[in-house]
Amino acid sequence: MTGSSPAQAPPGSLFRADDTCKSAAALTSAALFTACAIDRAAKPTDISAMPIFLIIAVVFLVVIFAPSFWVKRQLKKHARPRPDFPGTGGELALHLISRAGLTGVGVEPIDDGADHYDPQSRTVHLSRSFYRGKSVSAVAVAAHEVGHALQHARNEKLFHLRMALARSIQPISKIAGVLLLVGPMLSLLLRAPGMSLIFLLLGILALVFQLLVHLVTLPVEFDASFGKALPILAGGGYLQPSDLPATRSVLRAASLTYVAHSLAGVFNLWTLLRLLR
Ligand SMILES: [Zn+2]
Repeated sequence: MTGSSPAQAPPGSLFRADDTCKSAAALTSAALFTACAIDRAAKPTDISAMPIFLIIAVVFLVVIFAPSFWVKRQLKKHARPRPDFPGTGGELALHLISRAGLTGVGVEPIDDGADHYDPQSRTVHLSRSFYRGKSVSAVAVAAHEVGHALQHARNEKLFHLRMALARSIQPISKIAGVLLLVGPMLSLLLRAPGMSLIFLLLGILALVFQLLVHLVTLPVEFDASFGKALPILAGGGYLQPSDLPATRSVLRAASLTYVAHSLAGVFNLWTLLRLLR
């Protein structure tokens, strides 16, 4: 998880599958479904395709929400207090930052579930329960977010590319949602099918861009988990070998949230291309 909770951090700082992405995806999806519904209404004879469309819609919702549900479940599952750990998630994050020689990087508690690294303020934000708690989830998430601070400090190309793209994804996603929602409606009202096509093409361009951002995010997230956090935790002796499988699960969960968004992006594109046929 990199990035920011949109409510608490400026746009472009997200590195976490946060509500910004979710709301953008939801807006785009809502627009797509509306566009599909209008499209179907315009073609009353094409009823046979409706069950397939509904099945796909259900699959889409599962694809969007199941990974998110799974991530929360993994984090909760491994959040059992471990008084035998030498420090809390917050203390570990501070220790790792200091050990790596990162200057100007802070650690602050935040609302539960909003863990992220904010590159603008160079701050690792940890859920209060992870910041103050001792658990496998607290340790793994702290190390993951410090992993993003390391990517930032080392000027890793994908991290900076992701940061640059993330700044523009929020307005572009909103524009895509509005275009896809308003386009078909205007087209119906004005009886101008060509207008719908133009709006859909613009919407597709916006979705391609959104997909690109998610694709760039995936390797950044996996690197924070498995290129940075896991080697640090395992190699530094911060965890017992018996805790490593649970740590891997938490780190995988943190990274995989973005897979859902990538899949959602592919699905949105596919739906739009179907509309164009
Ligand atoms: Zn991350």
